[in-house]
Amino acid sequence: MLETVYNNSPVWLQQVFVTAAGLRLHFQRKGGGYGRYLAEALATEKLTSTLLEELRIQLLRDLVGYCLHAVPFYQDWNSKNHLHPADIKHIRDIRYLPIIDKDAIRANPEFYCASGYLNKRGTFQLHTSGTTGKPLTIFCDVESRRRHYAYWERFLKWYGVGSNSRRATFCGRLIVPQMRNTAPFWRHDPVQNNLLFSSYHICDANIPFYLEKLRRYEPAYLDGYPSAISVIARYILEHDLPPLPSLRVVFTSAETLLPDQRLAMEEAFKVPVADQYGCTEMAIFVSQCPYGSYHLNSDYSLLEVLDSHGEATPAGQLGEAICTVFVNKTMPLVRYRLGDLLTAPEPSSCGCGLHFPIVAQIIGRKDDAIRTPDGRIVGRLDPLFKGLSNIIETQLVQTQNDTLLVRLVPAKNFCEKDEDKLLMALKGRLGGQLIIEIEKMDAIPREPNGKFRAVISHVRG
Ligand SMILES: [Zn+2]
Repeated sequence: MLETVYNNSPVWLQQVFVTAAGLRLHFQRKGGGYGRYLAEALATEKLTSTLLEELRIQLLRDLVGYCLHAVPFYQDWNSKNHLHPADIKHIRDIRYLPIIDKDAIRANPEFYCASGYLNKRGTFQLHTSGTTGKPLTIFCDVESRRRHYAYWERFLKWYGVGSNSRRATFCGRLIVPQMRNTAPFWRHDPVQNNLLFSSYHICDANIPFYLEKLRRYEPAYLDGYPSAISVIARYILEHDLPPLPSLRVVFTSAETLLPDQRLAMEEAFKVPVADQYGCTEMAIFVSQCPYGSYHLNSDYSLLEVLDSHGEATPAGQLGEAICTVFVNKTMPLVRYRLGDLLTAPEPSSCGCGLHFPIVAQIIGRKDDAIRTPDGRIVGRLDPLFKGLSNIIETQLVQTQNDTLLVRLVPAKNFCEKDEDKLLMALKGRLGGQLIIEIEKMDAIPREPNGKFRAVISHVRG
C-alpha cells in the first residue's frame, strides 16, 4: 500500500518520504545513549586479548543470567535444567545451553524475546530477507539498535570516516520505481547525509547520470552491494574515466565480495575496499581491517563453529556458525544456528594491532554450498575465475546432485577457448563427477531484494 503511494508520487514527494524515513532511522540508530555505546565499543577494541577474553566471559555470564530470568524459552528450559549464571566460568560453558534453530524461532518468535522488553515503547521488528522463502522476524528495541550501530561506526573509523561523513549507498531498497527509466536514479536523505542510489537501474545507458551525480555530491564513502558498485567501477575502467576525488573508501556488504569485483573497485576508485559480513539477527559481525584481515568483532557476539557432529571445529577449519547475540536485549538469541558456513576463528597476529580473531574464509549460506557427488562441500569457488578473461559475470547453480549449471555473461571477445579454460578450472576444483552445463545469458537476474547470489544450490545436504 505505502509502496504504491510512494511509487506513484512525484520525485519531490518521494524526497519528502525519504527524509521522513531518514529522521525515523536516525532516531532509531543514533538517538540517546549512542555516544556512550560508541565510546564503549571504541574502548573494548583497545583491550589486550586477556582482558577481552575476561570481558567476553562476563558478557556471556550476564547474558545467560538475563535469559534465564527474562526469556520464556529459557525459563521453560531451565525449569528442567537448573543452570545458574555462576556455572558459566569459561566461554566453552555456553555448551550447557541448547542450540536453537530458525524453524523453532519462526514458529513462535515471541517465546525467544525478553517479556519485559516486548511490550516496551520503541520496540520494533526487523525482517531477514528470506531468500529461501523462509523469512524471520527479529524483535529489537532502540537502545539495542543504537548499540549495534556503534559497532558499525567503529568499523567506519578504521578507515577515517564516520557516520556523519557524506555517503552514497547502493542497496536493495526500491528507492526509484522500477518502471521509471529517466534520471534521477537517486533520492537524498539529508538527515543521515546519505544519497541513496537505485541498484536496479544501473546499466550502461544510465551510469553516466550516476557518475555525474556522484561527482557533484562528493561522497566520502560508498556503501552497498558489491554487485552494484563494481558495475560502476568497471564502467569507469572501460571508459578510462578519472576516480572520484572525494572518495576515501568503499564498504561492501550483504553479498559475497568476489575477487574481480574488488579489483575493479580498487582500480577504478583508487581507494581501499572494506568488506563486512553480518546479518539482520545481529548475531555476527566480521569486518575487514585496512590490512585485509576479516576480524570477528568478538565483543559484539559470540561465535562457535561446529562440525556435522556438533563438535567444535579446529581453528581455520570449515564448519557451521552458531551465534550468540550480545547486543539485542529484546531478542537475545543464544546458540542460534545461523545456517552459514565459515572457518573457525584464529588468533590475530594482524599488523593492524587488533586482538579480534581472524576468520579466514566465509562461505555464506550452508544451503548454497556446492556438494560433489562424493559428499565434499566445496568452499568458495570464486578464486577459480581468477585469470579467466572475457567473462563479465557467472552464477553457479547446483540443479541436481550430479549437475552444475554455470550461468555466464560473456564479454564480446568470449570464445571457445575461454569456455574450455572455465570447464578445466571447474573440473579441477570439483572433480570429474559433476556434469557441468554452461548457459550464456545477457544478464543474470537478481533476487527480489536486488542481491546477487554467486552460488545457488537446489540440493539440500
Ligand atoms: Zn587487522
